[in-house]
Amino acid sequence: MHSTYLRTTTCGDLTAANINQTISLSGWVARSRDLGGMTFIDLRDRYGITQLVFNMETNAPLCEIARTIGREFVLNIKGIVTERSNKNPNMATGDIEIVVSELNILNTSKLPPFTIEDTTDGGEEMRMKYRYLDLRREPVRKNLQLRHKMAREVRNFMDSMDFIEVETPVLIKSTPEGARDFVVPSRMNQGEFYALPQSPQTFKQLLMVAGFDRYYQIVKCFRDEDLRADRQPEFTQIDCEMAFVEQEDVLVVFEGLVQHLFLAVKGITIEKMPRMTYHHAMTLYGNDKPDIRFGMQFVELTAITQGKGFKVFDEAELVVGICVSGAADYTRKQLDELTDFVKRPQVGATGMIYLRHNTDGTLKSSVDKFFNEDELNKWSAAFDSKPGDLILVLAGTAAKTRKALSELRLEMGNRMNLRDKNTFAPLWVLDFPSFEWNEDSKRWHAMHHPFTSPKPEDIPQLDTETGNVRANAYDLVINGVEIGGGSIRIHNKELQAKIFKILGFSEEDAQAQFGFLMNAFEYGAPPHGGIAFGFDRLVSLFGGSDSIRDYIAFPKNNSGRDVMIDAPSTISEMQLKELAIQLRDK
Ligand code: ASP
Repeated sequence: MHSTYLRTTTCGDLTAANINQTISLSGWVARSRDLGGMTFIDLRDRYGITQLVFNMETNAPLCEIARTIGREFVLNIKGIVTERSNKNPNMATGDIEIVVSELNILNTSKLPPFTIEDTTDGGEEMRMKYRYLDLRREPVRKNLQLRHKMAREVRNFMDSMDFIEVETPVLIKSTPEGARDFVVPSRMNQGEFYALPQSPQTFKQLLMVAGFDRYYQIVKCFRDEDLRADRQPEFTQIDCEMAFVEQEDVLVVFEGLVQHLFLAVKGITIEKMPRMTYHHAMTLYGNDKPDIRFGMQFVELTAITQGKGFKVFDEAELVVGICVSGAADYTRKQLDELTDFVKRPQVGATGMIYLRHNTDGTLKSSVDKFFNEDELNKWSAAFDSKPGDLILVLAGTAAKTRKALSELRLEMGNRMNLRDKNTFAPLWVLDFPSFEWNEDSKRWHAMHHPFTSPKPEDIPQLDTETGNVRANAYDLVINGVEIGGGSIRIHNKELQAKIFKILGFSEEDAQAQFGFLMNAFEYGAPPHGGIAFGFDRLVSLFGGSDSIRDYIAFPKNNSGRDVMIDAPSTISEMQLKELAIQLRDK
């Protein structure tokens, strides 16, 4: 019940239990139907829709006014709750209607550019331009209510675990690691720029030095990257850090957070999460964020397929495949489609070999010329294939072939309906490499970030086997989506300086960029570690959608524009002058 001077209740509340009560409601006109003797108006607010009825016979003047009312007018009415003669079981308020006795038009409305109903005729661009109207639609509003509920449950859980929410600054300093920064010119310090944080990473570590012990923040982060369906230039993280912990402590606490969210928000019990090393994830799924809702694990065939005269295999660094249960009846056309799929540039394979394990037990491959029945039996044994299975094999350089097979595996998961969006399969991926070689810059880059601690046992190999050094870093993956990632941090100044050196920073550069952190580490930095979750992604996963945009009130489009407020935009000569910025002539 929401009682204010303009309403005693809401449009989602009234049921048969309220019959004969006199009530008042306020809301927007979703629909109106003029049937001559009677006019019906569906009145909408955040809570639902209630049918209003105006009767020509009993109240002609009011009915005349009701007939003139257009969609999205804002009304306040008073009336009596009455039983409906034709009930609507699909509506919470479907048993009743309101016989209106007083009608107050609080505001008129232009005709909206698209229909404001569950399914709309408005295209994406139009809906974003009039997002405030789009947000009146129930599915969109429900998405944001889900977001609110999840944020509340995050806060409840974190509070129960003694975490303190601390706000960190938004105007910070640009750093060269990671993605591209958004920068903000400083008027008071001309020629100098702030950067918007890609994450509060350094600040949360400073809070650990400060003794805050357990910090979290639901926080906006900014990355100037090319956009995809699951990326926005500004996005929200659940950012967390803890002192006096090892990896195990962090995993336990945040597994608890995820379990709490599933239970509190979706009523789903999540069991103890499986853990997999990065190495295993790559060899079994070709992917550091495996979707483990289904099997189809990779099986390597290099040893048993080489030396039989088939050039493609003989020249390959890796021959690897998957076994798809129940797909042996795939037609020539379907197999050609799959070959086209793996040959797409984004997937990158040069071709695909198949082996059918027919229901009558016979084996039939696309390379029968090179492999006799005995040989094919070895393939079948390697996969433990059953009659009815289809084996798909790719070959080539190891990394590229794994990546392509990973795409094919996901495609087959989709085709075989194994990726049900109401099934949730979380796991931890552990032991990421510390560094990855970047061909463009010809130097090592931090795979997670430069503050991540290598595994203590791997520290002696920092100089000799840099690429094999593993990090104390972990990702939380659900259904093939990276939901969170974090690490145990370096809290030792010398080790941090060494890592910067490996990453190609001169001492001066490291001092200029991160001196504040390294200096802070000289004043008693405790061992610490943390994690950050992509909140928008987590909400969209809970909501069952792939697009994080659906869960952001005012998102940006694919070109990073807010088409409603028309940003980014030019600024005045005057503002430019104050900032001492000269634009290049167009
Ligand atoms: N700051 C990191 C990120 O944004 C997460 C972490 O290490 O806690 O990915």
